[in-house]
Amino acid sequence: MTAAARDPGSRHEPYWVMVIDLQKCIGCDTCTVSCKAENRTPPGVSYNVVLEMELGEYPNTRRAYVPRPCMQCDSPPCAGVCPVGATYKGESGIVVIDDDRCIGCRYCIAACPYGARSFDFGENYDEMLGYTEVQAPEYGVDRGPRRRGETPIGTVRKCTFCLHRIHRGEEPACVETCIGDARYFGDLNDPNSVVAKLAASPRAFRLKEELGTQPRVIYLK
Ligand code: SF4
Ligand code: SF4
Repeated sequence: MTAAARDPGSRHEPYWVMVIDLQKCIGCDTCTVSCKAENRTPPGVSYNVVLEMELGEYPNTRRAYVPRPCMQCDSPPCAGVCPVGATYKGESGIVVIDDDRCIGCRYCIAACPYGARSFDFGENYDEMLGYTEVQAPEYGVDRGPRRRGETPIGTVRKCTFCLHRIHRGEEPACVETCIGDARYFGDLNDPNSVVAKLAASPRAFRLKEELGTQPRVIYLK
């Protein structure tokens, strides 16, 4: 966290990014689980997943793990296709979804090149004990207890870098709980931040940069 995050009166405008070091990720899925716990997502909806890849050729192969949250693209294809303007680049540069405006057409799911969006079919909620009693901190708005027939059921869901936690000056849940210390979060506009230093590494790259989406998730190879 930077001084700008702690001091809301600061005139310094933070540019939030997440850096993920692929050499440190051990594929334990702690981030996936802590994300689900933090955002109370139901079965079938995961804001963060860890993709597994096999690299090289037998017998010289190795496994690589690629954690994949939403990239919070600066030029988000999902926003461009939404017919009702329900998803857009919001405050703090985070791509958000207005659950009350979303009509569930799922065009944005098709448009996202990273597979970062899921549709909440409202299925299997009963598998989560006490799910209808927990508060829903969706995108910083306390929506009260979850109920059938109410949003976010029937709408599209995705990672927001835990915007509700950023508002409190905290890091995203996946960053805080990563046991491999592979995830970093901070302000790229602050040259002294850890993320700024890591982003300048020759190991840094972004997924599908050629599409011009300008993702805010930076990987280290
Ligand atoms: S990763 Fe997908 S959902 Fe996230 S901003 Fe980019 S296009 Fe939109
Ligand atoms: S930033 Fe928050 S919502 Fe996004 S993957 Fe991490 S824990 Fe999930």
